[in-house]
Amino acid sequence: MKRIVHIGIWWDKRRSPEELTKDKARVQQILSRIGMGSLFHPEQHYYDFHLEIGAKALKVLIDELQITPHLASSHIRIEHRYTQQELESAELLLWHPSNQAIEDDYYDFYAEGELHRDLYQRCLTCGARTKQIRDLIVNKALMRGKDVSWTYAFEVILSERVGQLFQEHGLAGFELRSVHHYRKPYKGEPTLYQLVVTNVLPPMASPPTEFEEKWPHRNQCEVCGRRSYFLKHTHYWGKIMYYEDTDVYYPHNVLERVEDFNRSAEYFGELRVSHPYIIITQRVYRLLREHKVKNWVAKPIYLVDWHER
Ligand SMILES: [Zn+2]
Repeated sequence: MKRIVHIGIWWDKRRSPEELTKDKARVQQILSRIGMGSLFHPEQHYYDFHLEIGAKALKVLIDELQITPHLASSHIRIEHRYTQQELESAELLLWHPSNQAIEDDYYDFYAEGELHRDLYQRCLTCGARTKQIRDLIVNKALMRGKDVSWTYAFEVILSERVGQLFQEHGLAGFELRSVHHYRKPYKGEPTLYQLVVTNVLPPMASPPTEFEEKWPHRNQCEVCGRRSYFLKHTHYWGKIMYYEDTDVYYPHNVLERVEDFNRSAEYFGELRVSHPYIIITQRVYRLLREHKVKNWVAKPIYLVDWHER
């Protein structure tokens, strides 16, 4: 895995003329210390870099920014790039659509008054979904040529081809639910399916899986008991904050419980839209690639020897 840091340095044009002069000089100095002095232009107030963890220039840049942290861009993030070999040797992978082309259910989200029809039973206090009570009704035209999509509320929609692929190969751990068009049928209306993952895994191994600690009081509902997590993604180099999604770990013996499709016991995101993560096996990963299914991403999950403390 390569860890690529997306980082920028800049000066804030709204600062006083004296501060601005100092900041510009300092940015010029930092650029030259990381061997990028030729990039400097007095009218260009933002410089952005993609540097791999371990690169000398990155270390120098971060050390320099400890002295003047206000010159660091506000959104520094680390992207993980996996090799094909890493992806193909992972027994389990975290999987999700790479787009949210489909909007929410029309009669739940948009229709008001008499037309409104709930899609879910929800907790009246926090709004968390406790049960889906009917099929999804969406604007199917938005799926346009996609193989897989999320709805805004993180329901997974499959094209007919992908749904059939899963069924033909006898994959387990999920159900396909019908998806309907919100208006009259139209010419060429596609068949779509909702992927409902049914096999629930035991809890992740934590640690080493780390969760964000912020706002624990907002992430648990006292009425329905739903608790929702965020994978830890805020970290610091001294005074500089950056974002990096931490990896997911399961105990080795989870393999005795996996099916082709699985969902995490944990829910993630804001309570109202909190949803489990989807975990697939290597078999599903290969099937998706072999059949050139588009519009999804996967990353390896790590298995560890782990006993609950
Ligand atoms: Zn609740």
